[in-house]
This record gives sequence, structure tokens and C-alpha cells, in this order.
Amino acid sequence: MIRLENVSKFYYTKGVIAVGFSKINLNFDVGEFVAITGESGSGKSTLLNVISGLDTYEEGEMYVNGEETSHYTEKDFEDYRRKYIGNIFQNFNLVNSYTVYQNIALVMQLSGTKNKDIKKRVNELIDKVGLTEYKNTKASKLSGGQKQRVAIARALAKDTPIIIADEPTGNLDSESAAGIIELLASIAKEKLVIIVTHNYDQVAPYVTRKIKMHDGKVLEDSVVNAREEKVEDTALTEEYENTRFFTKVRLGIRNAFNIPIKFLLLTFVFIFITVALTMEIGIFQSEKWENGILGYSWVFDNTSANRIIVKNVDKNKEAQPFTQADIDKISKMDNVGRLITQDLFVDSPVSLESVDDNDYAYIYGNAVSLDEYKDITPDYGRMPEKDDELLLIATKNNYYLSLTKKGVNELFGQELYDSSVHFGDKKKTDNTYKVVGVKIMDAKDDVMLNSHSILIAGTNKFLNDRLLTTNYVYSKTYVTIGNAKDKASDNYYPMYTVRFSNKVEPGTAWVSTNYNYNFKSMYCVGENVNIRVENTYYEDSLDLKIAGTYNKAKFKEFMDLEEWQTYEDCDGFIFINVNDYNSLFEHDTYQMSVFVSDEQRVEETAEALRDAGYDTLVIKDTLQSEEGAVIMELLTQIVTVTLAIVLLIISYFVIRIILKSRNVYYSTVRMLGGNTSVCRDLLVIDLLVDANLAYIISMAAFHILYKFFPDVYVLNNIVEFVTGWQFVAVYLIVVLISVIISIRYASKLFKKSTMVTIKEEV
Ligand code: ADP
Ligand code: MG
Repeated sequence: MIRLENVSKFYYTKGVIAVGFSKINLNFDVGEFVAITGESGSGKSTLLNVISGLDTYEEGEMYVNGEETSHYTEKDFEDYRRKYIGNIFQNFNLVNSYTVYQNIALVMQLSGTKNKDIKKRVNELIDKVGLTEYKNTKASKLSGGQKQRVAIARALAKDTPIIIADEPTGNLDSESAAGIIELLASIAKEKLVIIVTHNYDQVAPYVTRKIKMHDGKVLEDSVVNAREEKVEDTALTEEYENTRFFTKVRLGIRNAFNIPIKFLLLTFVFIFITVALTMEIGIFQSEKWENGILGYSWVFDNTSANRIIVKNVDKNKEAQPFTQADIDKISKMDNVGRLITQDLFVDSPVSLESVDDNDYAYIYGNAVSLDEYKDITPDYGRMPEKDDELLLIATKNNYYLSLTKKGVNELFGQELYDSSVHFGDKKKTDNTYKVVGVKIMDAKDDVMLNSHSILIAGTNKFLNDRLLTTNYVYSKTYVTIGNAKDKASDNYYPMYTVRFSNKVEPGTAWVSTNYNYNFKSMYCVGENVNIRVENTYYEDSLDLKIAGTYNKAKFKEFMDLEEWQTYEDCDGFIFINVNDYNSLFEHDTYQMSVFVSDEQRVEETAEALRDAGYDTLVIKDTLQSEEGAVIMELLTQIVTVTLAIVLLIISYFVIRIILKSRNVYYSTVRMLGGNTSVCRDLLVIDLLVDANLAYIISMAAFHILYKFFPDVYVLNNIVEFVTGWQFVAVYLIVVLISVIISIRYASKLFKKSTMVTIKEEV
């Protein structure tokens, strides 16, 4: 059955050639029980390894059933081992974490046997080697003799014609050893059994042939006990099948769990990968949103996709004021959700800051009339009842609300002032407000609402204050004193700054005593002052009389100096009555904003407005966002991919260390006939189980932790900002990393096997 002709085996290590054995001529047949003896280093193991196909040979020819093997590839030897060889080792090579049953079944599972057949055969074998009561005991719990019995049963499970045992009793006491030899002798009746032993006397009564080796050569080859009868070589008809897919899945899952420490470490690595990726995406997402790069406009503050600006133009494209009839007509049009007649207002955001610098709070949003929200019930606090009380309306994950770390209740205590402009000492002269209620709404439930701004609802008094601020901030003011020669510079920062004081009578103004020097008479009181305001679509002017001049002492009656101001800084201030200023803006409506109730119908509605004779500007068409959004999106992707690669590399090295302990398992699987692709698949499934579990654990942890610690920035980013698709992407990356690592590790693992290394060096 096996014939060696002048076979030699050399080892090449670091340029030194060692002889395993040389010019061996031997012939083995089924029914033989061969004992190989000889001192250590004489080449016994090398010979067995060559016969087993675990090692290649360099010279001569080995015939298997008459077939030459010198041209065999690694794959051919894999097939050969599967079909012919059952190995038994001195150190058993059992899978310690598997039970007796699982160890024996493994070899049959690898060769694709059906489960039903496996069960029957394994139970038979367990009975045969006398381990019936240890069937479900883990291999690690067995004695040496019991382990070797399992190894024999395993070698028999494959039903190969050749059993090769290298010092199978080397680690056993003499009593166990005798039992093992008897067992092997009984097997040898229908197989070829070759064993290497140091203790020939022990096997002498059973063996049919003795081979003594010395220095890589056969010294003696003698028939000991005649074989009972000559057994014919059995033709191998049974074709080897590939390991079944579900078997691989079952083994892979079992492997994932059966060494708890390995399982925990691997799962931890994948949790780390999942958390790092999700965190990174979460930070980018919230950053993107916070910067408002999506939908950013330099011109319009409210960039709602539902917004259309409407103007009334005549045939010559001249702006005309809207009449009440126009307003009624437009508000009744289809899809018009809300019509804002004070258009400038929509783009004049309110910045409310806490008066107390130490207890910082900041709210940014659009002022709206409380009248429009009369019927709602706040989610926190109550509805405003006084002029200085405000209701906030915001989406659930609003940034400014999230900044109030201790939640809205803390906000309720704050005294806030409008920091977009203030006309004096904020602590004394400006109006201050208090938030008394918060309503959480979905962006789609309110046409004006978007995720990055809050609607700030107040009484008419609040809106009038806002109107003043809006007009003041968004209009240029020109001041002309006396005759044209004294006209102030008409650039954006006029020489004169208009300030308000109720101490100034309507129709009059107060200026610094220095203004006297502008006049020949050195006296400006009684002179004329023209105040002209101008903004994008409107201008008006008004004449006032200078009622008096202020010096430092008098200035204090109008306004307190701020810490950073000196009196000289305020030299250009001209104090007027606020009602005079407001009267400049009492004018017809030239521009309005329509908020369309359904984002999908914006184009349609704009067209209807144009058909009705109005000029329209669809805000979302003016956004300069595209570029910024694309860059941000690209950046997220680049950073995510880079991070994934870095994580892949780091985790590869960590996982490699963890998997080192599994090398024994995989070489055992290979010895048992599992080819490299089976080992790779088992490893892939093993890591996939960890990766999936890690992903599930991480996701559950994010959401559960967020319930208890909603203020943790990172958790908030992940839960509120990472989209469904991004979670899917993270999942795919984690899975991909696990697959790449297992395939890479598997290929490294098998490169390292002695056989291949030796082949490469030849
Ligand atoms: P035995 O099993 O009879 O003790 P071996 O077959 O293990 O002997 O060794 C035979 C010879 O081959 C020895 O000289 C040994 O040093 C050498 N040898 C065995 N394995 C290797 C190896 N992997 N690399 C280099 N030399 C080896
Ligand atoms: Mg040896």
C-alpha cells in the first residue's frame, strides 16, 4: 500500500543541512502492525511525517497504492491525508475545550459526514475505547490514558486505512500504555498501523514487524509475529466531501464561545472598534449640523426649505407696497402655511444671553408672536403671562437647548437680554426676559421650525422691542447736522451713532458739546438734524431739532458707560427719542415671506405666486450650501475610512496576540484533514460572532446609557445625530474588519506551517 524507494528527507535551516533520514526503502501493507524503534534523532518522527504527508521529501519516490507522490502539491497531500491517514500523537493534540464527543465528531464533521451518521459512529467509537461515561467530559478534564483513547477513537472515526502513532504511550503510565497498545493491536487487524516507540518490549507481543532506525537509516527490518492472514488492500471508493456549510457555522459559533477569556477579549476589541467609529461619525454629524453648513446662506438667516420671499412689482419691475387685499389673497392660496408680513424679522435672529455672566445661557432663534401658539401646552414650564416672559419652541435635539446642561429648568431661572444689540447698560436700561416654557415640536409640524434655530414666542411688546432691534441692526443710519457741509460720512459706520433715551423729548435730539465746533457760531442748539435710515428695500428720513448738548455729567443721565467705554468713545452719540426712530419704519409692506406647508410643494407654490403677478425668491435655491455640504460629507468619509484602516491595523495586532492560543486548535484541525479553507472559514465565523455581538452590545449600550445620562456630549452625538444609514455603515465596517483580520490571520497561520516553510526554502 505504501512503498518508499530511496526516499530522503533533508532539513534546510539557516543554511545548514540536516538529514532527517536518507535512502529509505520500505514497503507497508494493510494488516501490518509495525513498530519503529531507534534512539532519539534517528529519524523516526521524520519518517512518520513523510508517510503521513505532513512533511515533503526531497529524494526518491513514495508510492501510494502504486501512485507516485513526488509531484504532489500541498492540496494533493491534503487530500491524501484525508483519505489515508489517521494520526495519533504523543501529546494527544486534542481540542481541550471540546468534550470527548466533540473531539471525535470533529474529524467526521470536517470530512463532510452527515450528522446522523456522525452520531452513530462516534457513540460506537466511544464505547470501543471504553469512554462511554466520559462522553460529555471536556478533554482538559481527562487523564493522559483517557486522552490517548480519545485520540485513537478520533483517528478511527475517519476510517482511514493507515493509522500512524508517534510515541502514543510516551506520556502514559505503563498500565494505561498497555491498554492503548492492545487497542491499537486490535485495530491493526484491518488497517496498517505504524507506531514509534521507545519501549519495544511493551509492544513486542502484539506487533507483526519491527523496524530499527539509526542515524537516518534502517538498521533492522524483521517480521516478528506472523500476520494471521494477508489482507487485501481495500480500494478507496468513498469520495471525500467538503465540510458542510452548517457544520462550519456550528463549529465556528461553538469556537467563538467555548473559551470565555478569548471570547471576552475579542468582543471587547470589536466593541472598541464600533464605539470609536460611531463616536467619530457622531462628532462629525453634530459638527456639520452645528456649523449649519448644510443650508448655509450669507444673506438669509432663516433658510427653511419651505420659505419663499414674495415682492409686489409693477410692470416696470418697480416694488409696490402690498395691499390688505394682496395679503388676504396670498394667505388663502393653496399650500401657504404661514405668511409673515414683517419679512426682515424672519432674518433677524434673536440672541438672548444671560445677564449674569457667571451663569451662562445662550438662546438663538427667531421671534414669533405668542398669538400663533395660543393653543399649545408646553412640555416644560408654562405659557407666558407677562410681557417679559417667553416660550421657546424647538426640535428635540436643538443645539442651544442641549447647551443648557442641567436642562431647561436651569434656563427658567435666567434673566436674559437681547445681545444682538443693546443700547446701554444691559443691567439697567435694556429690556430683559425670562423663559417660562418650552414646547418640543417636530420640524415638520411647524413650517418655520428647523433643527438649528429656536422659535422664541413673546407678547406684542416683545415683538416691538425686536422690531426696533431688527431695524437698528439691519439698517444703515445717516445723520446730517445743519447744512450739507456738515454732513457726516456716509459709509457704513457713520460718525454719529444714534442712541435712545426717554429723557429726550420727541422731535428733538441731544449731541455732544463738541458739535458746537462744527458751527461758525460755535453754538448748535436749535440747529436741524436729519436722520435717514436705509435698508435693502426701504428708506426714510426725519428732521429733529437739537435741544441741548451733553457733557460727561449730563451724558450719564442718558446712558451709563460700560466698563470698556470711555466718555471720549461716546463723543459721536446722538440721543433721540425711541418713538421718533420707530416712526421712521412705519411704512407699507414691500416684502413678505411665505412658508409653504409642504416642502415638496415649494416650486408649485412659487409658480402660483408668479402667476398671480408677484415676484418670488425660493430660499432653498439661493443656498450656498452644496459645496460646504459636499466637502463636509467627503471629509466625514475620508476620516471614517482612515479611522477604519487605523483600527483595522491596531486590532489586527491585538487580535493576533489573542488568537495565538488558537494556533494549536487550527493545526489540530489541519492534521485531522481540515484544509486551509475550512480553517479560514471557521476563523471567519468565530470572529463574525464576536463582531456581531460587539455591535449589538455597543448599540444597546449607547441607547440605554443615553437614557440615564442624556447630558453626556458623546452619547448625545451618537444617539441624536448618527443616521440609520451611518449605523449600517459602521456595522459593515466592523464586519469587514473582522473578515479581513480572520482571512489575513488564517493565511499567515498556514504559511507558518513547517511543511510550507521548508518547501519555500528548498
Ligand atoms: P526522532 O523522532 O527519531 O527522535 P527526528 O525524526 O525528530 O528523530 O529527527 C531526525 C533528524 O532530523 C534529527 O537529526 C533532527 O535534528 C532533524 N530534524 C528533525 N526535525 C527537524 C526540523 N524541523 N528542522 C531541522 N532538523 C530537524
Ligand atoms: Mg521523534
